Amino acid sequence: MFGYGRNNFTWTGTLRELEGSSPTCLAKTWTEKRGRPSMTASTSSSSGLEVLLSTLQNAGDVESTLNILNVLDELLSAGTDRRIQYMISKGGSEALLTALVNTGRSFSPNYTLLLPLLHLLAKVGHRDRRIGVKAEDAGAALLTLNLLRHNVEHARRAAACLWVIQVFSSSVSTANLIGANHGLDVIYRLIPQYTTKHLHAIKAAIDAFAALLCTKANVCSVVSKGYVSGLLRLYEDWHAKATQHAAMAICHSLLRCLHKVTHSNAGRQAFVSQGGIRLLYVTTQTCLLSKGLESLVESSVQLMRKCLPKTPLPLTSDRSAYTFLMPGRPHDVPDIDVEPDENSEESDDEEAEDNKEADFDDDLETDLSKLRLRPDPDRPKELLPQYNRLCPELSHDFQDLDLSSEPEESSTASSSSSSDEEAALLNGLRFHSSRRGGGRSAASSDSSTSPSGSHSETDPEGHTPAAAQLEARDFHSHSSILSTSPSFRTKDREARDEAPLGQRGEDEDDEEEDADKSHHRTMIDRLLERHGACILHHEPKLYRAAAAKTKSIPGFSILAFPDFWGHLPPPGHESMAPRKPNIQRQKVFEDAQRFLTTDGIINQVVFDLEDSSLQCPSDSLRFFSKFECGNLRKAVQVRRYEYDLILNADANSSQHTQWFYFEVSNMVADVPYRFNVINCEKSNSQFNYGMQPVLYSVREALEGRPHWVRTGTEICYFRNHFCPARGRRRTTFYTLTFTITFKHNEDVCYLAYHYPYTYSALKAHLKVLQKSVDPAKVFFQQQVLCGTLAGNPCPVVTITACPASRSWIDMHQLRNRPYIMLTGRVHPGESNASWVMKGTLEFLCSSDPVAQSLREAFVFKLIPMLNPDGVVNGTNRCDLNSEDLNRQWCKPDPVLSPTIYHTKGLLYYLNSVGRTPLVFCDYHGHSRKKNVFLYGCSVKETLWQSGSAVNTVGLKEDPGYRTIPKTLDRLAPAFSFNSCNYLVEKSRSATARVVVWREMGVLRSYTLESTHNGCDQGIYKGLQTGTRELQEMGVKFCHSLLSVTKDVKGLYSHIDLDHNILDHKSHNCFEDDEPPCVEEIEYSADCPALAGADLDSDINGNTASADEEEEGDEGCREVKHRRGSVGQSQQSSAKGRLSPHLMRQASAETLGEKRNACNAVSVNGQVMS
Ligand SMILES: [Zn+2]
Repeated sequence: MFGYGRNNFTWTGTLRELEGSSPTCLAKTWTEKRGRPSMTASTSSSSGLEVLLSTLQNAGDVESTLNILNVLDELLSAGTDRRIQYMISKGGSEALLTALVNTGRSFSPNYTLLLPLLHLLAKVGHRDRRIGVKAEDAGAALLTLNLLRHNVEHARRAAACLWVIQVFSSSVSTANLIGANHGLDVIYRLIPQYTTKHLHAIKAAIDAFAALLCTKANVCSVVSKGYVSGLLRLYEDWHAKATQHAAMAICHSLLRCLHKVTHSNAGRQAFVSQGGIRLLYVTTQTCLLSKGLESLVESSVQLMRKCLPKTPLPLTSDRSAYTFLMPGRPHDVPDIDVEPDENSEESDDEEAEDNKEADFDDDLETDLSKLRLRPDPDRPKELLPQYNRLCPELSHDFQDLDLSSEPEESSTASSSSSSDEEAALLNGLRFHSSRRGGGRSAASSDSSTSPSGSHSETDPEGHTPAAAQLEARDFHSHSSILSTSPSFRTKDREARDEAPLGQRGEDEDDEEEDADKSHHRTMIDRLLERHGACILHHEPKLYRAAAAKTKSIPGFSILAFPDFWGHLPPPGHESMAPRKPNIQRQKVFEDAQRFLTTDGIINQVVFDLEDSSLQCPSDSLRFFSKFECGNLRKAVQVRRYEYDLILNADANSSQHTQWFYFEVSNMVADVPYRFNVINCEKSNSQFNYGMQPVLYSVREALEGRPHWVRTGTEICYFRNHFCPARGRRRTTFYTLTFTITFKHNEDVCYLAYHYPYTYSALKAHLKVLQKSVDPAKVFFQQQVLCGTLAGNPCPVVTITACPASRSWIDMHQLRNRPYIMLTGRVHPGESNASWVMKGTLEFLCSSDPVAQSLREAFVFKLIPMLNPDGVVNGTNRCDLNSEDLNRQWCKPDPVLSPTIYHTKGLLYYLNSVGRTPLVFCDYHGHSRKKNVFLYGCSVKETLWQSGSAVNTVGLKEDPGYRTIPKTLDRLAPAFSFNSCNYLVEKSRSATARVVVWREMGVLRSYTLESTHNGCDQGIYKGLQTGTRELQEMGVKFCHSLLSVTKDVKGLYSHIDLDHNILDHKSHNCFEDDEPPCVEEIEYSADCPALAGADLDSDINGNTASADEEEEGDEGCREVKHRRGSVGQSQQSSAKGRLSPHLMRQASAETLGEKRNACNAVSVNGQVMS
């Protein structure tokens, strides 16, 4: 009997407490019993646990070793993983490995000892990240493999070895070692066809096999030996016959092996060539019919999705269909992406690739000098005075205060100075003009053009506007389609005959009509007169005039109807779309079907941006996208009512697809059409979280409902099997799929990623605004910041209040107003930014008293569209030089990034004359988050968040950067304060926000991010945003600016703050972009690692369910004999499932004696009486 009866020794609590007990005494009793008083562990510094471990390693007699194992198992089974971690920290793994090697290498190992040892090792090793290395060091890896070889006939022993091998395989080198010693072959042979016997051992074999497949070498070996086919046949067999739970577990394990093996390209090829996709497709269909088998569906579908053979996009080149000749570059940029990357075919970790998350903290700037010191200006001081032309408010004398009209733009243009700068910024305009003239070479040499002339938007420009073309070819597709529709024919006739004369007369008075006078009135004009909606700040004819001057790469000659006609927000709110259960599974299934069968598959190109002569079948949908902001490159009819859509890459680039906008017609009403945008690039999307695309129906508009509406069902976004047409085979594409049921036959509809807002719309809008303001009150001036690469003028708008009089006091107040600079739409795909900007602009021009206060308090400089060329040409992210303009702020190139160069120049100028803006904000859209929020800049928060060692105590920082977000949180329903952050990331060091903050010293420098989807907090919770809410956000942003004025109290009297405070509460969202969605992990996770608890239960099952074990096992027989007595010890049987039953009983007896002797505390911590 052991000396457990010490009063000061208890079994309660943690091992740490065990350590705190009297180890010397414990050791003494142990060593006395073992007759080895010279134990090294019996020093006063070692703990009880260490004594146990040390004794274990020193290969004592079987009985005491068994008892130690038993005690350890009791201890580890009772508590949480923390106990095991503690044991590992005290060398538990090494002790067990040593014991294993000592016991296992004898000629005839003692399995009574080995079995519990292996079981304990599996349990502990599973939680020890370094177990593989430790096993190799101890020589235990190959020893265990040998033990397995000798025990292939003994299911129980084999299972124990297999679990240990599985655990060892967590290390790549150990897994390779075992693989190189034919471990895979030994184990593979242990996996039989369907049987009801030894299920534990079989599952252990498959799990060990899967674990060994964590390395490239092992996967290659398995593939080359043809095991993939074998695994498939095994799965087929087990799947067909599996009915009970244990057999199901084997199916799961087999799928796990297949997942691992298909990490490699060769594995996927073997899988496909061996009929894996068809097999899984068929088995999964059975699964779907039987509830009990449903758990296999997920894994099977993912396997199918992963293994569908890579299919190149049906394009001749991945490069954008739009190429722009860059100034100074005689030839197109060599396309490095087009070269097929042969090596990438061998990629083994393709699936894992996308799962790696950027380590946020690593990205934080912790270099205090970079955070605080301002770098030198990026240009000489002499270049700054030119920007005074953009600050007419500083020099304007307001002599015309009594007159009713604003001064002409040309009168303020003081840009006759022909500096190099000016010449450079004009390059775009001249370059484009000459290009239109037919010559592409004269990019920059000619400097004779008058700068002031080219700068003024109202001046006629040096090329033939497309106005005539627009007039003649207006809505070519509509005219043909609409004219065939009886309903439209009627409308047309009505419009033609009955348009009120007065209305026509008015139109003809419009200056914008001048160009049209010589042309006959088109059908659309008549429709407009008859049915046009009254949309605030939108005039279709003004829009058309503005669009005629817009320069695009392909030379657009057609307007998209919604942009021309205008739109109104729909009357009600639009809820986020509920996600249909298992939608992704269903879609992947349908995609797999395309691979397996040709029935009903059409695969015909019905639209090609680059081939306008393409004839499409009369009964297919018709697509079109050659208009401003349009983005659709190709449409392929897959099935009768299903189309694959390919988006055009950003101009001069072969990537950045996300934004789309196209026209679709020739539809049949009430039929669900499935659309698959198959070359999306982001790994996740709000389309998985309730977001819908937007649709505009021409028919609806003509019937008085000109709305962009959120639409689409069965929406889902997932990784697909497409790859680029030529290069970058490793690139992963994602499918956005949605289904639309059109309301009308033969309608013309438009579908878009988000509410479109074109560059022409901005120009028309600014013109309307300019006309709308009261020039006696509002100083509104639109100027050209610079020309873009394509020669489109980039507008800059100044808004402030006219002085009340020309008195010294009023003029002084005007000249000393702080500046606010707002910019937007640097990313063309973020059209929501333009709608927010529209809200801001309209509000600042309005007669609202708050707007008046703001105008009196500030001078607003707005650059609503920093990337006009990108917007025009339907790019998603970049400018025409395929650069993200919001990464160019550190040192923008005057020729390649003129809008950024001159925006920064204007900021430098304001800075140089002591008028640094009080607030700078760049409006953006966010595709992966909900709500609206701000990113700002704070040294302290960045250092705190990064865990930097820099002492921030003495660091002074004005907390004023939080004022606006805090105010917005109270004022703006869509705004979420908790989504804001103020961290300065290295990866964002060249963005507007960071550069304006660091280089200009603007404390309140922000990025305003508006969701493309909707809100998950506040009064808009669960709703998708519309243009109404986006514009409201623009208004609220203006309201929040009151918080930075000195006279806050007075100004706030205009806003009923208290009322608004109650309107919504922000929520806590310090979490990732999204909470886990039901199916989110479907396309990122493939085979979840075996959890510790699973392995434990497998191991425990091996000892508990002795019934199915073979008769030849000695330990087992004895267990059966003694089963009766085992039941007596509840304490032990509940916890100590590791040891053979024989030992458990012995342990129970021991514990019983212990109880009698000490009246102490039980294993569970209960006081024993
Ligand atoms: Zn952006």
